[in-house]
Amino acid sequence: MATVVLHYMAAAVTDRGRKRPSNEDAFGFSVEDGIYVVCDGMGGAAAGEIASSLAVDEVLRLLAGNGTNGHAHLPEAAEQAIIAANEAIHARSQRNQRLSGMGTTLVALAVQESHAWVLNIGDSRCYRLRKGQLEQLTVDHSLVEEQVRIGRMSRSEAQRSPLRNVITRALGTQCRVTPDIFGLEAELGDLFLLCSDGLTRELSDPVIGSLLAGEGSIEDLCARLVEAAKSAGGHDNITCLLVRAA
Ligand code: CA
Repeated sequence: MATVVLHYMAAAVTDRGRKRPSNEDAFGFSVEDGIYVVCDGMGGAAAGEIASSLAVDEVLRLLAGNGTNGHAHLPEAAEQAIIAANEAIHARSQRNQRLSGMGTTLVALAVQESHAWVLNIGDSRCYRLRKGQLEQLTVDHSLVEEQVRIGRMSRSEAQRSPLRNVITRALGTQCRVTPDIFGLEAELGDLFLLCSDGLTRELSDPVIGSLLAGEGSIEDLCARLVEAAKSAGGHDNITCLLVRAA
């Protein structure tokens, strides 16, 4: 039986939204190295922007050449890169009082042929659209998600809760961090979405799913998602990164 060789293509859009004075989200990817990253920074002044862009840059830098060498076992290499990025952000915030307490979420997709791993810290998300069905692959590290999981809060209460911004895991705020890692097999036609909460706060999963199932290039789909989130209010920065297995 012939093996299907998967190729990946990616596109991303980030937008300040309609309310925030600056954009603290960051994204980056290398199709060659099989790594795709979205980060949503937090912290006073420009600290959030520094934390998110530092995280993206460190992870991409540390995994550069991974795809061509192929020696490193990708999920372990990606986890090590995230741990190193955490140390870099934390060390920088310790050196500079203005950056004290800065941090960022991180959601990453790492792919090697048909093998894929999703790595997650915080409440940025990874979804997969397969045969028209949207599935959230990550679990938010947030206070309301924990309350929902132990049955103390319903999903709709969580969406309205004043505590919905509280995340329970972040990159850079502590000297140690552990990402969640989910491994899966990618299939021809799979579409992965990495996004910040500026998208998922504005658009429900069914709306995201129907937009992703629409016609057009992945660049078109990214632009449509961001425009829809802005039309719905655009209260926060919005980032969408799409990866298609073709
Ligand atoms: Ca955000």
